[in-house]
Formats: sequence, structure tokens, C-alpha cells
Amino acid sequence: MTASLVSLLASASVVLAGAPACAVVAPDDVAGAGAPARRADSESVLAISIDGMSVAAVRKLGRKELPNLYRFMRVGASTMNARTEREMTVTLPNHTGMVTGRRIEAAKGGHGVTWNDDRPTPSTVQAAAGHDVGSVFTAVDAAGGSTALFAAKTKFSLWQRSWPDAIDRTTIDLDNSALVDQLIADLPVDRDFRFLHLSPPDVAGHAHGWMSKPYLRAVRQSDKLVGRVVKAVNADPARRAGTTILLTSDHGGHGPSHDDATLLDDYRIVFMARGSAVDHGVDLYAINPTYKDPGTRRTVYGMRRPPVRNGMIANLALDLLDLPPVEGSEFDVAMDLRLTSPN
Ligand SMILES: [Zn+2]
Repeated sequence: MTASLVSLLASASVVLAGAPACAVVAPDDVAGAGAPARRADSESVLAISIDGMSVAAVRKLGRKELPNLYRFMRVGASTMNARTEREMTVTLPNHTGMVTGRRIEAAKGGHGVTWNDDRPTPSTVQAAAGHDVGSVFTAVDAAGGSTALFAAKTKFSLWQRSWPDAIDRTTIDLDNSALVDQLIADLPVDRDFRFLHLSPPDVAGHAHGWMSKPYLRAVRQSDKLVGRVVKAVNADPARRAGTTILLTSDHGGHGPSHDDATLLDDYRIVFMARGSAVDHGVDLYAINPTYKDPGTRRTVYGMRRPPVRNGMIANLALDLLDLPPVEGSEFDVAMDLRLTSPN
């Protein structure tokens, strides 16, 4: 080998050592950035339901009176035209739909919870349905995860009786502010799913009428409670990055009540999501061509392009956690509700 060839090879090897290093580093980085796609979108999901919050109230009060809800929509994906369960627009049937992903009518595969009080029998959702009924709690539990329920009405004890092993913590407190304090104190605990039920609008609506001054005050109070929760979640950067917050209602209301399932004011509700896995300021119908804004219609089940429903909470949460849907569930069982624009 001549000295010049050695010199050439040496310099070539320097080039070769350098060039591939650069060429290799870049694809590695791309692969690294792509890897999170195999991970869950969210390490933790917090679902909030504001009992009896009507869309009419959210619209009437607006951004100035409801800064936290409007900020939620500005930084997230949302619609003010989601739907409750079709059969009934009352609290326990609709909330049970949220966590089971099922309609109400048991004969058609529903969860069977048709009552809305503290009755001891049927003592479980399964007894009401006459068949096994899983929930977002049992799905998370089956994957080894942890869940908690924070509710402002005692009737939610039905869930604890129905899924006793899957709900790791149940806190029921009729004082909404104290309830939020307890949820905030629980945030450092590593949980995959939390459900928070807030009751002020429903309580004020029954006492004074929907859209009355005390009712609107209760909606503003709920906005403040949501603000406290979001602030607490976001106080820790890792928790902020890993948490998706969903927000909906069980029903709206009209006059002194909300039990007429044929009334727009009763069946129309909000549905919102925010977090690092969610696009900013997008309309859920605009980014989900497989779902259709129902206008003012009540809608039926099984539509080719269904509306967004509060019963989609369970499977949307599981989708975000990269877990399979609730067994036997119906709403968003294909997990195709997107929270990001396809573009
Ligand atoms: Zn009520």
C-alpha cells in the first residue's frame, strides 16, 4: 500500500466516520419522535360532568362570566351541540351511560339504570341490566390501572356497589367546593382515570328554575370550580403534559325541571376536551367527518353519522389511555372520535 493510498483511505475513513454519523443521527431522532405514537396519548384522564348545565346558560353567560369554560374551549376541542342519552335526560341514567358507553334501555343492550334516586334495589347496574355491564373503571382496572370517583350526590354510590374492585377511591360530598378540594388533594396519586361530578346548576335549577338568577350563579360557580381543578392539574408540568381533561353534562333543563327527553334544552349539552393530546380551538364536528352536527334534532341511536354524546366519555378516555373499549359498549366503541385535526 502506498503512503498516498493510506493517506487517502485515512481521510476517506474520516469522511465516512463523519458523514454516516450525521446521516444516522437524524433518522434516529425522527424514530425517537415517532415512538410516542405507540404510547398512550394520555397518562391520565379526568372526566368532569356538570350536572344540569344547559347550553343556553353557557351561551348566555359567555366568555366574561364563564372564563374557565371558554378558555377550555379555546385551548381544546369542543362542541356546544352534543347529545344526552336519547331515552331519558336525568342524572343517574345519563352518568351511567357516560361510564359504561351504553344506551339506557336494557332490552337493547343498555345499562338499565332508569331511576334517579337512592333506591337500594336494584343494588347494582348489572342487576338493573340483567346482564354483565363493564365500565371505564373495570376496563382501567383490568389493565392494572387506578381509578377514583368524586361525586356531589349520594346516588352515585350505585357505581361503587356495581364495580367495587375497580373503583379504588369513592368520595361523595354534597359540598362541591370541599369535593374539589379532595380531588385536588388526590392529584399527586398516580391514577389513570378520575370522574368528577359537580352539582350546583342542577340543585339551583330545581330550587329556582333553569335560567333563573340563582341558576346562572350556580353555572358561574361551576366555572370557578372547573378553573380550580384545571389550575391544580396544570400546576405540575409532568401532570399537565400527561393529563387530558374531558367535560360534559348529563342534561340541560327548562323551567323547573329537565326530565322531558324531547326538549332541546334538556337533551343538548356541551362536550369538551383539553390537554396535550388535543388540538387548540377546534370544533369536534369540524375535525370528525364521521360524526354529524345534529342541528336541533334529538337524534336516534345507530345513525350512520351519529352526534357526539355524553356516553362517549368512557371509550374516549380508554382510547386516550391506549386501552381497549368497554366490553359490550356502544358509543365510540370503534374509538374513532378524534381530538386532533387530520391536517
Ligand atoms: Zn335534576
